[in-house]
Amino acid sequence: MKKTLLFLSVFIFAVILILDLQGKGKEMMGGKELFGKLSDGTNVYLFTLKNSTGAKVTVTNFGATVVSLIMPDRNGKMDDIVFGYDSLDGYIKDNSYFGTIVGRYGNRIANGKFTLEGKQYQISLNDGENMLHGGRVGFNKHVYDARFSKSAKGESVRMTYISKDGEEGFPGNLSLTVTYTLTSRNELKIEYFATTDKITVLNLTHHSYFNLSGNPESTILDNEVSIDADKFTQTGKGLIPTGIFQDVENTPLDLRKPVAVGAGINKDFEQLVLGHGYDHNWVINNYNGKVRKAATVYDAKSGRFMEVLTDQPGMQFYTGNFLDGKGKNNITYRSRTALCLEAQHFPDSPNKPQFPSVTLKPGETYRQTTIYKFSVK
Ligand code: BGC
Repeated sequence: MKKTLLFLSVFIFAVILILDLQGKGKEMMGGKELFGKLSDGTNVYLFTLKNSTGAKVTVTNFGATVVSLIMPDRNGKMDDIVFGYDSLDGYIKDNSYFGTIVGRYGNRIANGKFTLEGKQYQISLNDGENMLHGGRVGFNKHVYDARFSKSAKGESVRMTYISKDGEEGFPGNLSLTVTYTLTSRNELKIEYFATTDKITVLNLTHHSYFNLSGNPESTILDNEVSIDADKFTQTGKGLIPTGIFQDVENTPLDLRKPVAVGAGINKDFEQLVLGHGYDHNWVINNYNGKVRKAATVYDAKSGRFMEVLTDQPGMQFYTGNFLDGKGKNNITYRSRTALCLEAQHFPDSPNKPQFPSVTLKPGETYRQTTIYKFSVK
């Protein structure tokens, strides 16, 4: 009897020790856990970054994708405020770009065509007659190498991917590094770094769909949005820019002071009709390559406030007009229940010499910093 009791206590102690060690190990590796496997057997992981406020971000190395982002509301209640899927399979089939890094060219290129140093390139088409977000298989569908690290700035996961010369039609072997850091001030900082071995074009962005209320079934029409921009890139057919920077003054695209999304979205204004709502690129004021505040979103229900800071010239503001499909927890995501603020260069820049250049040459480095900063009011 005594022996059995002793054996039982040693067994229970050993189990507790193993579980505890596993927990610590998991923490040291950024909560790395298996998310799933691709059909060729490649393992795909989830990494969870935490800070002392209780905020958490989970990222998968499939598409360098933010899977969940947990932030406090004004009462300290923690909610997931981004759209996504419960399983890897959802991300494999996704065509909404939930939470992903978008490349090699975020946004649209007219007819998927451009010329560099006299040579014409044709990118695969996936948006009618145009290319959207990098062509048929963009950076959102590849597996990145990923490494967790911890520094005074916070917990980070560094993702690397090599896009081969000719991938989707783009020239040059492109080496890309994307680092996500969750800081102690509830900032999700995204730093991009890339080099090429042949002249190419590059326009990277992050594509999280935010519903700051934490209730993915409520619309974002009552969210107050501001974008620090006097102009936007006027769009034509297929949401390709005409090349004109149009004044926001006296239009529903004037978001220089916070405005409820629903106040102007259904106005009979040609640009909004073309975009089926907001789906435009704002020309952020004071573009000089430095990080500055570009946009804000406030959800009065939860008190959550998001600021977007970036060193990019443009900001695509998309109000989830085409959302319609199942996401996390079996919820059907409906039109205008989430919004995206995608820091980037202007659409179709390779064909618009008057826009800031998106060309990257061998020996040059591409860098971008974009920060999503969360607080409450
Ligand atoms: C674009 C939308 C597109 C969405 C999903 C956004 O970045 O602006 O037009 O529907 O991505 O692909």
